[in-house]
Parts: sequence; structure tokens; C-alpha cells
Amino acid sequence: MKTAISYLRFSSKKQSGNDSYRRQIEATEKFCKENNLVLSKRLEDLGISAWKGKNLSDESALGGFLKLVEAGRIPKGTVLICENLDRISRAKILDALGLFSSILKKGIEVVTSMDGKWYSEKSVTENPADLMISIIYLTRGNNESETKSNRIVASWIKRRDKIKNGEFAKFHCPSWISHNGSKYLLVKENAATVKLVFNLYIKGYGVYSLIRELEKRKVKSFTKSGQWKPVFIHRLLQNPAVIGTCEAVTPPAANYYPAAVSEEIFYKAISQRQQNQNHRGKTGSKQINIFGGICKCHKCGSSMVKYTCKGKKNLKQYTFLICSRSRVGKCKYEFTDFNKFSDSFLSVLHTRNFSEFLRPVRTKDNSDVTRGKILELTKTIQRVAKAIVVTDSPSLVQELKLLESQKRHLESQYEKEKLESMAATDSGRDYDAIVATLNDGLKDNDFRTSLRNFIRRTISSLIVKADGYQVNFRNHKEHIRIKLNQNDFEAVVNGEETYFDYFAFKSEVPAGSIRHKIKW
Ligand SMILES: [Zn+2]
Repeated sequence: MKTAISYLRFSSKKQSGNDSYRRQIEATEKFCKENNLVLSKRLEDLGISAWKGKNLSDESALGGFLKLVEAGRIPKGTVLICENLDRISRAKILDALGLFSSILKKGIEVVTSMDGKWYSEKSVTENPADLMISIIYLTRGNNESETKSNRIVASWIKRRDKIKNGEFAKFHCPSWISHNGSKYLLVKENAATVKLVFNLYIKGYGVYSLIRELEKRKVKSFTKSGQWKPVFIHRLLQNPAVIGTCEAVTPPAANYYPAAVSEEIFYKAISQRQQNQNHRGKTGSKQINIFGGICKCHKCGSSMVKYTCKGKKNLKQYTFLICSRSRVGKCKYEFTDFNKFSDSFLSVLHTRNFSEFLRPVRTKDNSDVTRGKILELTKTIQRVAKAIVVTDSPSLVQELKLLESQKRHLESQYEKEKLESMAATDSGRDYDAIVATLNDGLKDNDFRTSLRNFIRRTISSLIVKADGYQVNFRNHKEHIRIKLNQNDFEAVVNGEETYFDYFAFKSEVPAGSIRHKIKW
């Protein structure tokens, strides 16, 4: 049986906190037991840095030990155990290597308990690669943050395994969850608030109108600042902890916490969030544009944008929709009076029940939920892929394959669901609510948000011409065409002509205010 001497060093008082001290001692004892070593002495340099070799001075434990080594008073074959080579020296690489080789030359063997590496004069001579490894570790000693984070990772492994097994592991959790030391629980009041935020969001509230609503209802914020801030709502809306998922492990552990909202609501919100981002308008504009992102040019298919100018004579303000490409000279300038277009569209909306154009709901539409799941899964896949690069773990590669096949499965399911209930959903019910509020609601941005969301859900595009427009529904089967016909407007519904003169609108272009002359 060989004799071992352990060496512990902490550079700061903070570092010598109970946990790290105990961890180093435990690791050493475990190592001795496993390798049949008798621990004869513990050298400890607490609160001493190895940066400038202070731990090698005569007063230090290691310095004293080295003196004994130098004097040949430590028997050959004695094993010096340390957590890592950076415990011995953090000096510049050549100095560190010199110290390291002088210890080995005296017949002392050095073992690092962190990875079980065993260095002796013989092993290093026979296996120069070992020396290379030690150089790498000694260099790392100079890079404190890296090794420190390695040790933090090591202390994480324990808790991570617990989380993976669904066991209780104590660590920082979100504000609507607390624990009693052995189990996570919902903080009732805060969990109810989380639920409310999600419900409002999927009803069509934007983040800002949602905050106004929370303030109006005097809902107490559980954030540190005590205020509702947009960034918090944004984060909350995409935090899978609300459905109980713990993201501290890769891949995240599902159903680890008690859920505050249902999976259906969460994935719907995820899906809706992405849609809102696709259609994001100018922020800070006074009024929400209810047609944001769906008006397209009849010539080139590009987005139509709002354009405002003043009449020279009457100084009246005119707002038009024009093709965005016409502004860079790539499409023809055509002006569609925005207010009249909008009025006409809303009267169509008011008069013709939009649900007529939608297929009846046969099955419950789950496509939003599936889409949200796909988005979340994509995030997980990216995380696992990153973890593979760092850890090179074969079990993670397996995990990744599994996740990718799950994703493919979900994607084909999504395509099916989307076809089955193309925008049919519960738009009929929403339609009634919207029409009932249409007259008074338009000044209210919250209402405009729900109206915009309704329009996006039912209509795929509005093809706009100077003298009319076509409404294309998402079901890809029906459309309404509103067109100037002499002085009347002609509406063609699904190819059958009908006349609705009250849909009429005509653009008034102020004289002299436009660069290009247009024939009307
Ligand atoms: Zn165009």
C-alpha cells in the first residue's frame, strides 16, 4: 500500500466556504479508498494564492513539503493528491512546469482527484503525451475562470441527475413556484397571475395593452421591481417553466414543476408570439394598423405601405396605400385611399358574415398547439446539439436523434391539422364579438389588436388596386372582390357577381401633391 499526502489550497476566504472545502476532502478520501492509498498527511494552504508562488514560500504548507522533498525526507513513491494541477501552481507555464518536474524527479507521484490522472517520472517518460496533458492543465491554472467553471459544472452534475430523475433538487426557481424543502409548490396568487397573462395574450392582447390591462385590474406584479415591464412579459410568455418544464438540464425535464398553465395555452401563445413577430409593425405608432402585413400589391405582390401627404390647396391630410416597391421605382405608383379602403372593408366585414366564407369546424383545431410544440422542440434540439459539441457525449447524440424524429413527426402532424381546419377554428364566435364592438371599438387599441388578429386568422391577403381590392380567405377557396364599376362598386363573391354599392370607395388624390400623374 502506498502512502498519500493530500494538498488543499484556497486562494480566497470566500472560496474556502464549506462546500468547496468539503468537496475537495471528499474527493481525496474517495480517491484514496478506490486506489488503495493510505492518507498519511493533509497539507492545507487556506487563503493563499498560487499566482505568484506564495504557496511555495517556507511558511506555507506546500513550501514546507517541497523543502522536505528537496532534502530527500519524503520517501520515493509517495503520492501527492490534489484536486487539480492548478492547486499547486498558477505561475507562468515554464515556472509551473519546472516545479512540477522537480517534484516528479524526486520520486514523488502526483495525482489529480478531479480526473484521476496519475503522473510519475516513469509515466511521463514513457508516455510523453501525459506531459502534454499536464502542460494543458498547468496552462489552465492560469485561466482561473475556466477551471472554476469546470468545478461548478461538477457540482451541478449531482443536482442535474436528480432533476433528470424527476427528484427534488434545490435551486433557483421562478417566482410563481416555491418549495418546502422536498417538493415544489405553486404560489397560488402568482400562478393565477401567470394564467391571466397567458389568457389575455391568446385573446389577442399585445404585450403593451396586456400591461395596461393588468394595471387597470390592479394585478400585483411579482417581479423584483414590483412593476410590469414588457421584457418580463415577453420572457414569461416563452418560459416553459409555466407548464412545469425545468430547463436547467439538457434536454429540459418535462413536468418537473407543478404547471401554472395548460400545455395547450402555452403552445398557442408560443405560436401566436411568432405570428405577431412576423407581422410586427412600427412600434410606438399611435394606432395599430389592423391590416398590418396583409395588404399586397396587385401587380407585384409586395406589401402595400401607408403613405401620408398634404393637399397643397386645402392642406388636408391624405393617407394612401402604395406598393412598397414603387417607392424605389420598381413598381408602378398607384394610390389607394386608405381611409376609404378601410371603411369599405369594415362595412364588408359588418355586412357579410365572414363565417360564411369559412368551412364549418369539424374537429378541434390543434395546429397552433402543435406549432408551438415544434418551436419549443427546435430550441431544445439546438441546445442538445450545442451540448454535444462541448461534451461529446454519445447518449446526447442518441437523444438528438430521438428529438429530431419527434420533430419530423410533429411537422407532418402540423401539416395535416392545418389542412383539416384551415383557419376555421372558432372564428365564428370571434366574429360575432368583433362585429358587436366594431362601431365603438375602433378608437381602442386593444380592440384594434383583437380585430387585427381576427383578420390575420381568417384572411391570408388583401390584394389592393387603386380602384378595388380582393379579399383572400385562408381556406384558399373563397374570396370577395370589390371593384369600381363606373360609379358603383361591384362585389364578386366566389365568382358570382353581386352588387353592393355601399362598399364603394373612390380615392381622392390631392392635386399637385404627387410626383407621378395617375389616370383614374
Ligand atoms: Zn407593386
